[in-house]
Amino acid sequence: MDAPSILRDIQSLERVTTDRSGYTPETLPEGVVVATSVDDVVATLRYASAHRIPVVTRGAGSGLAGGSSASQGEIVLDLGSMNSIVELDPLEQLVRVQPGILNSEVSEAARPHGLFYAPDPASMTYCSIGGNIATNAGGMRCAKYGVTRDSVLGLTVVLADGSVIQTGGRTIKRVSGYDLTALMIGSEGTLGVVVEATLRLRPLPTRITTLVAYCDNVVAAANCASAIVSSGVQPMILEMMDGNTLDALDERNGTSHGERGRAMLLVQTDGYGAEAEMGVIHGVVAGFTDAIEVTSDPEQSEVLVEARRSAIPAIGGRGVAFVGDVGVPRKHLGEMASELVRIGEETGVDIYTIAHAGDGNLHPILALRPDDAIDSGAPKDAMDQMFWAAHRLGGTLTGEHGIGVLKRDWLLPELGEKNLSLLSEIKKVFDPHAILNPGKAIVSPGK
Ligand SMILES: Cc1cc2nc3c(=O)[nH]c(=O)nc-3n(C[C@H](O)[C@H](O)[C@H](O)COP(=O)(O)OP(=O)(O)OC[C@H]3O[C@@H](n4cnc5c(N)ncnc54)[C@H](O)[C@@H]3O)c2cc1C
Repeated sequence: MDAPSILRDIQSLERVTTDRSGYTPETLPEGVVVATSVDDVVATLRYASAHRIPVVTRGAGSGLAGGSSASQGEIVLDLGSMNSIVELDPLEQLVRVQPGILNSEVSEAARPHGLFYAPDPASMTYCSIGGNIATNAGGMRCAKYGVTRDSVLGLTVVLADGSVIQTGGRTIKRVSGYDLTALMIGSEGTLGVVVEATLRLRPLPTRITTLVAYCDNVVAAANCASAIVSSGVQPMILEMMDGNTLDALDERNGTSHGERGRAMLLVQTDGYGAEAEMGVIHGVVAGFTDAIEVTSDPEQSEVLVEARRSAIPAIGGRGVAFVGDVGVPRKHLGEMASELVRIGEETGVDIYTIAHAGDGNLHPILALRPDDAIDSGAPKDAMDQMFWAAHRLGGTLTGEHGIGVLKRDWLLPELGEKNLSLLSEIKKVFDPHAILNPGKAIVSPGK
């Protein structure tokens, strides 16, 4: 068996040691394999399996849970160079891609055919499709088009022993056997390495209408978002940002959102009925605030969407930021927003709240002080309280970023012993020697 080519120089190791979560392992990984083909991935996993070496698969390293962080004894399998489009079929509205391609590059390739790839994480220009699949990434347009899982038709996966399987295929529907595609999606590199994906594309919307509304506070904005959700129309985008976030954005972009209100909703409708649907939404929002602006101008709309996309970097610009990811049933958005205000006051941690409100997915962002660590003291206490608040409301610890290493403490209360033990058994079937991203995504029951 040929050993893969493993880079061990400090520069290569430092490049792949962590993601954008703010978590940094204390040691550097053993080495890096920069894969350029499926054969490279197969060779790496065969070698690692034979020698029982843990492998951390890496896409673009933009994760927010420490999922692609790697330390002593581990090899990083970097898929960033496997980044081609294999096939684009406009008639079937699908595309086959290698895992390292960036999310935004897929939509760019589809655009000339009147198509787009719907899941659009705010990190779309610097996150890979492989990473999106491994975390079941969401984004703004997911309010209408669903998350990554709703756009993946099939996968090619290299298993821990180096064998290659195909899951799913090119059809929209398929019920033959258990759904291994769905199992791989969101498994955070712990069950196999995705080396190719068949993705569903959608027709580009004919029209887009955008509404911005400013509310007095984040709880009012969250309640307004819940009212939009239950109004019977389906916005493509329904995002929320609190006053702290607006201040950070204004500081970065020279805008003045924070002066117009202490929370903002960004709503977009698309398709032939965009204006009519926005009319209904306008009526709902008018019950909460008078500060409403509507535009059908594509450039103005893109400026507003881009502002939302840049919210996390803007907050990060004020210091180290840890991005939380709780989800709640959408009728409870107001209660969760109010819990976040309380948690900030009680723990003394500065919390900035942004949300994919249309999905009930809130990102409370903790602004850490220079001597703060995310896994101890007040920030850990704030994280703990956030989880329990979401849990009480019937929600979840993570809507789209995954567990990684940073959220394992709360898996047991969310999933329960029986589910955790099933997950461990499934992991053993796919990865009997526990070499794939060990210690991430799941914990053993009793831990
Ligand atoms: C400013 C900012 C904004 C963000 N906004 C969003 C957002 O709106 N929505 C959202 O969902 N996320 C968002 N994220 C988080 C992040 O971009 C996503 O989690 C993304 O899916 C990670 O992709 P990546 O290629 O960077 O993966 P990485 O960080 O490299 O890896 C993430 C996980 O996937 C695994 N993995 C990577 N590639 C593969 C593969 N081919 N096979 C198997 N496992 C693999 C890794 O082992 C790891 O567990 C944001 C991040 C930042 C920094």
